[in-house]
Amino acid sequence: AEYSDDGDVRRADVTYDDIGGMTDTIRQLREMVELPLRYPELFTRLGVDPPRGVLLHGPPGTGKTRLARAVANESEAEFFVINGPEIMGSAYGESEKKLREIFAAATKAAPSILFIDEIDSIAPSRDKVHGEAEKRLVAQLLTLMDGLEPRTNLVVIAATNRPEALDEALRRPGRFDREIIVGVPDESGRREILAIHTRGMPLDAKVSLRELARTTYGFVGADLNALSREAAIEAVRRIMPKLDLSSGTIAPEVLETLKVTRDDFVEALKRVQPSAMREVMVQS
Ligand code: ATP
Repeated sequence: AEYSDDGDVRRADVTYDDIGGMTDTIRQLREMVELPLRYPELFTRLGVDPPRGVLLHGPPGTGKTRLARAVANESEAEFFVINGPEIMGSAYGESEKKLREIFAAATKAAPSILFIDEIDSIAPSRDKVHGEAEKRLVAQLLTLMDGLEPRTNLVVIAATNRPEALDEALRRPGRFDREIIVGVPDESGRREILAIHTRGMPLDAKVSLRELARTTYGFVGADLNALSREAAIEAVRRIMPKLDLSSGTIAPEVLETLKVTRDDFVEALKRVQPSAMREVMVQS
């Protein structure tokens, strides 16, 4: 895999191996999305329509976007993204137009996956919204879902952390009728995620991912990524005063001694808090 400048795997190259603690979720998604995208003939043969829409439901930072990218990549499908709040912010009439354009582009490029992040902001329950523009956007999305030809090799994956806030009509058969729960990782999940985010790092022998996984209760994938990066920054801070930077380069033998230590993680833990905790703190 290639890495981007934020130290994470290049987004387009995300594979199932870059997602920790989600064996079962990945299995479900492969069955619902990868299989029909790759082998539409299976469904044709059986005379049933493949799934059209899948709803990923889980708290922020648990890897929903990453999952959708991985399935697209592994299914060799084109990947399109709609960001809910962003499209809502468009001028009157523009939001619907953008939706239509992306659906058209994704249909044309099929096999493809169209990912709608934070779908609750595009399609909130129509009983609860007052604005006409908002109601029209929900209606437009439903029309687009219904208008997809049965043989179009396109799966729409939508993510939300508030499934109860969605317009009910969205969950009807032929629309988002499948739901996959993406939960907060448990200890072994956290260990897998930490292994993914430290795999490019030289770790000191005393760093125990098992111990780190045990002490990071409540951390989601995004938090564990942040923690690993913070620990690496801590290692840099530690080594800086010992460097002779007058030559403009760092000697390879000095670089070789640079490792991320257990203490770097201890320091990082003081700075990085689980996002769920932050929410609790903000609310109280
Ligand atoms: P949001 O709802 O806030 O958009 P999300 O659930 O879509 O969040 P992602 O954007 O996929 O979460 O994840 C954010 C980052 O957290 C990823 O780029 C990745 O570095 C890390 N991450 C999250 N979950 C996992 C995981 N299960 N395994 C590895 N990395 C993860």
